[in-house]
Order: sequence, then structure tokens, then C-alpha cells
Amino acid sequence: MNVIPQKVIVVGGGIAGLNCARHLLIRGYTVQVLEATRRIGGRIKTDRQHGFLLDRGFQVLQTAYPEAQSALDYARLDLCCFAPGAMIRIGGRFYTVADPRRRPGHVFSTLAAPIGSLGDRLRLLRFTRRVVGGSLARIFEAPEQTSMEMLRSEGFSETMIQRFFVPFFGGVCLDPQIQASSRVLAYVLRMFASGEAALPAEGMAQIPAQLARDLPDDCIRTGVRVRAVAADGVRLEDGTRLPAHAVVVATEAPETERLLGRRVKTRSIAETCIYFACRRQRWHPPFLVLNGDGRGPINNLVFPNVVAEGYAPAERSLVGAVVLDAPDRPGPDLAGRVQAQLVEWFGAQAAGWEHLRTYRIAHALPDQSPPTRNPTRPLTMAVPGLFVCGEYGRLPGTQWALVSGRQAAESAGDYLRSVQARGRP
Ligand SMILES: Cc1cc2nc3c(=O)[nH]c(=O)nc-3n(C[C@H](O)[C@H](O)[C@H](O)COP(=O)(O)OP(=O)(O)OC[C@H]3O[C@@H](n4cnc5c(N)ncnc54)[C@H](O)[C@@H]3O)c2cc1C
Repeated sequence: MNVIPQKVIVVGGGIAGLNCARHLLIRGYTVQVLEATRRIGGRIKTDRQHGFLLDRGFQVLQTAYPEAQSALDYARLDLCCFAPGAMIRIGGRFYTVADPRRRPGHVFSTLAAPIGSLGDRLRLLRFTRRVVGGSLARIFEAPEQTSMEMLRSEGFSETMIQRFFVPFFGGVCLDPQIQASSRVLAYVLRMFASGEAALPAEGMAQIPAQLARDLPDDCIRTGVRVRAVAADGVRLEDGTRLPAHAVVVATEAPETERLLGRRVKTRSIAETCIYFACRRQRWHPPFLVLNGDGRGPINNLVFPNVVAEGYAPAERSLVGAVVLDAPDRPGPDLAGRVQAQLVEWFGAQAAGWEHLRTYRIAHALPDQSPPTRNPTRPLTMAVPGLFVCGEYGRLPGTQWALVSGRQAAESAGDYLRSVQARGRP
């Protein structure tokens, strides 16, 4: 029998689409990735400016993500890790709070930090121990409530919630009200407790670049926006129709809803990340900095080159300030207000720090408040021949984007095999 190679179009060149394409190629299909912007990577991009590496929005790779462990070559990414803990700014001082198992040397400073009672710290240890055990899927089968409700019902004090969980977990979900599902909180704590938060030495964009390295040159087309999708092909913005045997939509959730002709229900959460350059700072160990006071625009702060040296040229440091959307935070001259807070924290020298760039990412993450779906379960076929991956109907994050890409490729492969077995091309 003369078998025609089956072609699959993947709409979106973020890590979900790229991982899907890799798995389709492994299964022997012809793949075309169509990416609307000029560069692959979606929400994981790095710009170079005056010798600095600027990730478009501060983010990290958790080395404990199970799917990242199998999809990525960590050694080639040359991962550089944050220290397991944080510096927390409270009442005019920085306090070091570290994981006592991995940083026993910081146990006294951790105990001395005014982030709650001894009972709070023991509760956190017990809670973390609970979420680290058992399967990952179990976390997403547990009953859920908002993280704020769960922390209160677990007995955490308001001090611990406001000074630690709000800047830490609010920074992860970009949600200062910490309304994300308690399942997400359990999952995030499990990832932080079982691995490291890391940056590739050459910037976060090395992650999609590594996935794309497995794809043939003609597999990816950039600068091509898809206007409409169907099981048998796509229509581009310029009206061109491209036929395919199956189509995978791998876009951000609101765009996926639009392409599938569904009502756009996803609530987008925005983030602003503002970068400054300064003379090389001594900031050791490489902890993330959290705002435990809740005052001012900054939620968290990072010195990326303290973790991965290549983020800044010699003798200089890069400072990234993350601002979450909250009623008091947007407004005019945000960079100026962030710099004023840096002066408060680091003294008059910070007034001379050079503003490099401000990134405002309107759809950084989707809202993760309950109810959430179990992201370990495949949810890939919209209609026969039309598949979905990415955060739509699941959860956001590198782990789930990679999982969903693989699952969509598996489902598309099953579908194409069954179509072929019935005698159609
Ligand atoms: C500021 C920020 C911080 C984050 N922090 C973390 C973190 O610390 N840890 C973590 O795990 N995750 C984090 N994330 C989330 C993580 O980056 C995303 O979940 C993941 O990159 C999403 O990948 P994706 O492929 O599903 O979607 P995307 O990366 O959004 O890719 C979708 C692609 O589809 C393209 N596209 C859209 N519409 C069309 C169309 N009509 N035609 C063609 N192409 C189209 C887009 O241009 C885009 O390239 C963060 C995200 C941001 C923005």
C-alpha cells in the first residue's frame, strides 16, 4: 500500500507547541509549526541589551518538573540555581529565610525572621512533608479551595500569610490575593522542596531553543498568524488555506478559546517586570528577594547575574523588579516608583541605577482560582482531528505546557493511525 505521509499543523511556537512537534516527528509525521510572532518561545523569551540578558518577565525553571527532566537536557542548558530560600524585606531590614534541610547554616536567621510564630514554621514543615510524598496526580485529585482559605484553615497566622505566602506564592501565581487553587499551592511547594529554581546560563530562551533544535529547519514558520482552525487545516490572516491531516492548537488560553469558536472565559493575569543596571552588587547567597511589608509596587526582586553570571556584563549587575497587578500598583511612572522603593531598600546609590527596560505582559498567566482541572490527565481532542495543548483546560507553567504538548502528539498519533487503518490518507 502506498502510504501518504500525514501532515500535522501545530498553531503556536511556545514550548507546548514545540514539544508537541518533537513528539509528532518522533512518531514519523510531517509537522509544520506556525508561529504568529517573529520568534519562537512564546512566553519564554530573552532579549539582549548592552550585554545584559533580559528575560521577558522574571521566571525560573524548577529542576523537579518531571516532564522537563525528560524533555530537556539540563546539562546543556547549564542551569544555575537560586539558593533554597529567600531574603524578605520587613520593617526596613532584610531577613534570610532558608530551607532548614538544605541550608542548615541559616537556621538561626530563619528562626529570627519576623514572619510568624514557631508554630507557623512547624506547620510549613509538616505541610511541605505532606505534599512532597505520594504521586503528583494525588495533589490534583484533592478537594480544593483558594490558597488563602486553605492557609487559614491550616492555622497559619496572618503574619505568616502576609509576610511570606503573599509575596512568595503571590509572585509565583502573579496574584497578590493568593486566590489560586490550594492544589496549585501544594504543587508549587512540592516543586520548590524537591528541586532547585534555576536559570539557564544564557537565559530562559535557551529552553525553547533547545526544544527547537530537534526540529528540521523547514518545520517552523514564524511571522504567520492563524485566523481560523479546522480538523483538516488552517486559514492564515492573509486568507491562505493550509491543508493538514490534523491540527493542534498550542496558543495562550484566550486565543485557544477564540480559535475554537468558544466564549473567551479565561481571565488573564498581567505582570510588569522592570530591569535596572547598576555597578556589580555583592548579594550572596543567590536568594530571591521578597517584599514582606506589602507596601510599594515591588512584589519581588531578583539579581539574575548573582545566580547566572552571564546575565550581566563584567562589573555590572542586573536588577529585575516584579510588579503584580493590584489596585494601588499600576499608574503613571511605575519605573520611577519602583526606583524610589529601591532607594528605600538599598540607599541613595539606587537613585543612579539605570532603567534598562520595562516589560508589561498582559497575559502572563491565566487565573488559577478553583475550580481547576487535573493537568496530569490528557485533555487534547476538541473535535476529531483537532487537538489542543498548552494551558487551556489545564494549568499554566513549564511542566504542564510540556506534558500537554506530548499528550496532544500522542492523541493526534492515535487518531491518525485509526484514520489510516480505516483506509483514508
Ligand atoms: C512573567 C511570567 C512568569 C512566569 N513564571 C513561570 C515560572 O516561574 N515557572 C513556570 O513553570 N512557568 C512560568 N510562567 C509560565 C510559562 O512561561 C508558560 O506557562 C509557558 O511558557 C506557556 O507555554 P505555551 O507554549 O503553552 O504558551 P505560549 O508560550 O504562550 O505560546 C503560545 C504561542 O502561540 C502563538 N500564537 C498565539 N496565537 C497565534 C495564532 N493565532 N497563530 C499563530 N501563533 C499564535 C504565540 O505568539 C505564542 O508564541 C511564567 C510566564 C510569564 C509570562
